[in-house]
Amino acid sequence: MRKESFPDLLFFMKFYEQLRDWYGANARKLPWREDCSAYKTVVSEFMLQQTQVDTVLGYFMRWIEKFPSFEVLAEATETEVVKMWEGLGYYSRARNLHALAKQVTLNGSFPQTAEGWLQFKGIGDYTAAAIGSIAFGDPVPVVDGNVIRVLARVTATDCVFKGNTEAAKYFKPKAYELLDTKDPGTHNQAMMELGAKVCTRYKPLCLFCPVQKHCLSWQKENPENFPKFVPRKTEQRSIERILWIDSHSEKILLFCAHENAKRLSSIYELPEKHSVSFAPETSCEKILEKRRGISNESIREIIYRVKGLDNASTLNPQNTWIPLQSLDQVTLSGPHRRWLKELGVIRYS
Ligand code: SF4
Repeated sequence: MRKESFPDLLFFMKFYEQLRDWYGANARKLPWREDCSAYKTVVSEFMLQQTQVDTVLGYFMRWIEKFPSFEVLAEATETEVVKMWEGLGYYSRARNLHALAKQVTLNGSFPQTAEGWLQFKGIGDYTAAAIGSIAFGDPVPVVDGNVIRVLARVTATDCVFKGNTEAAKYFKPKAYELLDTKDPGTHNQAMMELGAKVCTRYKPLCLFCPVQKHCLSWQKENPENFPKFVPRKTEQRSIERILWIDSHSEKILLFCAHENAKRLSSIYELPEKHSVSFAPETSCEKILEKRRGISNESIREIIYRVKGLDNASTLNPQNTWIPLQSLDQVTLSGPHRRWLKELGVIRYS
């Protein structure tokens, strides 16, 4: 791979200066940036893994109100923690954050460097660098998807990457070269903000970009060509599900994944159709069809209402009857809660 590097000291000085001035004037007011603390930074960085800022905002505010510190979070039950995360997805983040709070509380202190934060489960290079630099001023660059996009465009690198992990490895030395070591937290946040708000994936706002003069892809008039990735294949999958409500007991049958399951452990969803046994002549009516994307999968989910289930039985011990009036207390996956609202099963939020 050919390695591009930045030209000279003047380049860095101008780059920092213009980026910092732009960030000072344009930074979004986000609750974790105001009255910043190590705890708020850690919570926000866990939530922001795989999730957009706009989605995280409400969750963050509710979370801080209920769990204002590592100590309070450490004392909460796992059910309470996962319930507060309902709808954000990737629930292992909530469990890892809970385990981290317990460890920090037990230790009576927390690490002051990015390297120190790497010891915790659920914290990779990106999150450790964000926490270390923002909360403690550790001079380590953050290289997330937004920063990769900015760096790939500024340098107009022609390398083709298999994914973000490979690209992050490639751009990390460049990010180190460019880092403002006097204020790494602000620099990292400014780079991420630039990628999120100006150097967007499609139609970047180059005319308003503070580092436009330093950007090779802008000079070549082809920013959207960078970064270059090997095209990813999306797997297609279909799941048939069943809506079975027992009108006598006013209960709904839901599937709850085992606590050791890789995905959605202890989270409720509508059961799969093949997990219920009913007579072949029973009529099935398709009532909803949805698509959702998880990692590189596109999943089509079809929900059936089955009539005449008097002699039906459930074949999966993980299927459980839940009273309809308790649906707001159990943790449903975000899409399934939305779909049950759409079907009129849940009438309140
Ligand atoms: Fe991105 Fe355009 Fe700025 Fe280059 S000039 S960094 S492509 S927004």
